[in-house]
Amino acid sequence: MKQAYDVVIVGSGVAGIAAANTLAGHGLQILVIDENPQAGGQILRQHCRVTDGFWEFDPRLERSGRTVSTQKIVQSLRPVPRPKGITCVHQARVLGIFPDRQLLVHVPDPLCPGSSVSGCMMEIDAGYLLLATGARERFLPFKGWTLPGVMSLGAAQILMKSSGILPARHTLIAGTSPLQTVLALEILKNKGNVTAILDENHFAKKLGLLPLLKHHWYLAGEGAMQMLGLMIRKVRFRQGVRVTEARGKNEVTAVVTADLDRKGNKIPGTSQIYSASALAVGHGFSPNIELPVQAGCALDYDADRGGWVVRVDHALETSVVKVYAAGEITGIAGAGKSFVEGKLAALSILEKLGKKTGPDRYAQKLVRMQKQQRGYASFLNQLCQVPASAYEAIDDDVLICRCEEISMGEIRKQIAKGFVTTGSLKKATRCGMGRCQGRICQPVLFDILLALTGQTPDQTGSPSFRAPVKNVPMAAFLHP
Ligand SMILES: Cc1cc2nc3c(=O)[nH]c(=O)nc-3n(C[C@H](O)[C@H](O)[C@H](O)COP(=O)(O)OP(=O)(O)OC[C@H]3O[C@@H](n4cnc5c(N)ncnc54)[C@H](O)[C@@H]3O)c2cc1C
Repeated sequence: MKQAYDVVIVGSGVAGIAAANTLAGHGLQILVIDENPQAGGQILRQHCRVTDGFWEFDPRLERSGRTVSTQKIVQSLRPVPRPKGITCVHQARVLGIFPDRQLLVHVPDPLCPGSSVSGCMMEIDAGYLLLATGARERFLPFKGWTLPGVMSLGAAQILMKSSGILPARHTLIAGTSPLQTVLALEILKNKGNVTAILDENHFAKKLGLLPLLKHHWYLAGEGAMQMLGLMIRKVRFRQGVRVTEARGKNEVTAVVTADLDRKGNKIPGTSQIYSASALAVGHGFSPNIELPVQAGCALDYDADRGGWVVRVDHALETSVVKVYAAGEITGIAGAGKSFVEGKLAALSILEKLGKKTGPDRYAQKLVRMQKQQRGYASFLNQLCQVPASAYEAIDDDVLICRCEEISMGEIRKQIAKGFVTTGSLKKATRCGMGRCQGRICQPVLFDILLALTGQTPDQTGSPSFRAPVKNVPMAAFLHP
């Protein structure tokens, strides 16, 4: 099957929805593709339960010209009849992007002519392409992190948001992410228990980062209110503590921790054991750059923006003509930036197409809001950052690539042999070539490489990805 659209948007999270809203009503044929069963991406999924319609944000959201909080974004979302010209395909995965903005998409069986339980393939020509593929969580591997019951903070959230299932009756929360408190509150709201929140950051580090929130004091306020809520519920909170091991035979039953010094190094003789039936842990976010890399878009490395990010100009156009990027993939900075960039990218596309987009001051206001998000990006990414010493300290028997079962010891061995670039280390170890195609281990492998070799990101090189970037049944290729 082959189809053509004026604009194709990959991702219907905050950025994708904001872009589609802005592009609607200009006589364009627009396709929005998302692999989730419903629109919304990471934060709006439970608010966008399947409807035949569409979603838009209350226009008052950007009128103030100030940064937009996640809470306001969620509150301002409202269902609307699907605008003319907009087609949404869910449970459809973009597997690759080829020259001249040709997309290879795996679509579910109801959309395939004839019947096929495996779905089928679709080729889509995009006049303009907007990539809004969001982010995923990153991890610091430890002994036992692959045991059932150990999960990411986001996975625990998704369990509750999508299926109303608690991770366990008692959940231990750990890592460095601001999602810790959000998750704890959600668990309590769903009548679960939080054994403790173990934050790797010391209070002094958080205090030192506060000036970066100068345009976002409301976020500091939101954080303080969340903490207060947890303290009232008597949730135990410890700072400067890292999980070093998850123990259990068939599932996690106990978690071992160590106290950290101010530089994030483990303090010998400080280990403690917590009994736990679920451990939710995370260390910030990594942009989902597989598709932009496939499309040939240039990347930049910026630790303050979450690592490798898609390079865009002021109009959010990537280094590939007519390919735009918006949201977390241009730098991790939360939903506010995704909202503003989705709108700005859409305005840029409309301008290129010669469509009237209203007064310039509207776009200028959005650009101002986008700039204000930079401080929050630094705050967020520095808060989540793990020191190089933590990667150096990973034991040899810890698995790094769980799909191909590659251990830290094997990675050390290959680095010592001279495989010190991202590409060569991947080939030497097969790390990242398994079922998840590096979704989980690729950012970790990169951080290990930096920590163990002392090289700069430019010396190690950016990751490469080939189609298909996601798993797909072979039978789908055979379906006519
Ligand atoms: C697990 C997780 C939980 C989070 N929870 C919160 C939270 O509680 N509060 C908060 O403020 N922020 C949270 N965030 C941060 C969040 O990324 C942003 O706040 C916001 O969702 C970003 O919007 P976005 O549109 O840029 O990306 P997203 O909302 O992530 O949307 C990207 C969309 O692209 C789709 N996609 C990606 N690749 C493909 C492909 N190949 N084919 C088809 N579709 C594709 C995805 O399915 C997704 O729906 C979370 C992030 C993660 C990773």
